[in-house]
Amino acid sequence: MTDRSSRADGARVLADLHALRAIGAYKTGVHKPTFSEPHIQSLQWLVQRLPEAGLAGEIDGIGNILGTSTKPGPKLLAGSHLESQNHAGWLDGPLGVVYALEAARVINNDPDIDGTVEVASWCDEEGHFGHFLGSRSYVGAVTDSEIDAARDRNNDRGMREALRDAGLAGRARVHHERGRHVGYLESHIEQGETLESNGLKVGVVTSIVGVWQYRITFTGEQNHAGTTRMAIRKDAGLALARFCVAIDERFPAACGPRTVWTTGRITLDPGAPSIIPGAAEMLFQIRDDDVNVIARLEELLRTMAAEVEELGRCTVAVERIRTGAPALMDASFQQAIEEASAACAGGKSLRMPSGAGHDAQVLATVMPAGMLFVPSIGGISHHWTENTADADIVTGAEVFVEACRRLLAR
Ligand SMILES: [Zn+2]
Repeated sequence: MTDRSSRADGARVLADLHALRAIGAYKTGVHKPTFSEPHIQSLQWLVQRLPEAGLAGEIDGIGNILGTSTKPGPKLLAGSHLESQNHAGWLDGPLGVVYALEAARVINNDPDIDGTVEVASWCDEEGHFGHFLGSRSYVGAVTDSEIDAARDRNNDRGMREALRDAGLAGRARVHHERGRHVGYLESHIEQGETLESNGLKVGVVTSIVGVWQYRITFTGEQNHAGTTRMAIRKDAGLALARFCVAIDERFPAACGPRTVWTTGRITLDPGAPSIIPGAAEMLFQIRDDDVNVIARLEELLRTMAAEVEELGRCTVAVERIRTGAPALMDASFQQAIEEASAACAGGKSLRMPSGAGHDAQVLATVMPAGMLFVPSIGGISHHWTENTADADIVTGAEVFVEACRRLLAR
């Protein structure tokens, strides 16, 4: 049984989250793109909080913060991110950072607990400049030339320039120290409605889905939209539209129970009202936590593309441009979160995969990792109305601190 002193202080957690919400506020959410002024201010806010948890840390050369302790004993790494999507919600990222900070404050200051929680804020999880640049830098998977080439997708500012403007140019990047941590724990809002609709308080993440992305290009024949008879057209745009519909008709028979697929962008070439598109391109994505399922769907995609070619009007090229492996969360971490939920949340937890990507999938490549979700109201995220009930935020913090305590005690 945990005594009162080693539990999360819910009021302190909410106050911290509101302090971060006030930096770069946008309606009821925030607007904190990576390396924007409010993002840097939020990082500085965290650096100033670290001593409360017996930690020391600075913003490193890629915008990460790692608050470290000199206390002996086992160390657990915990964190998330502080930048946001554009005009987005206040909890996506900061919730996990504040939970980590709270766990560090409670545990590191408790003389009866052997071990410490170290706090991390990973830069650019939201992908303004790249793909998990901060956490990938920490695990040693980002080269200097990748940073040289990275540009802000919002305004094309180079990452080097952004680092210079933030006063971070020339700083060293902090790297993972083998064997330092027993593992990594991250909390996040669910960003879906599974927990809320089932009256649950905690999601115990089993895996983070893999994302495979494709560029599918249709090539037909560009021609005059007024003088070309329907029967002889080679309309690449029409072929693409039919293909999208066919995917939705045929994937359900081959997919897994939680597979999702999305056509995120369609471009017609030349894209003019009086011209039959000679070429059309779609960006298509499949997500699942089972690689075999994704591979099976890719096979189907290629079969369907061949069928379109057999009709003789268009050629189709299916090119895989991203192959993200699913990340399995550590079994003992899942168990610790479940036990903590039994102790602090009436056992209202559910094991579930994460359909969204998170830094934990990167950390999982170098150490055992786990993730804990709290409910999202209406399942809404990446929007300024994103929210979680205060009571659920507090319960989640209690479960998180308890899970950290249990993981350190193993
Ligand atoms: Zn996030």
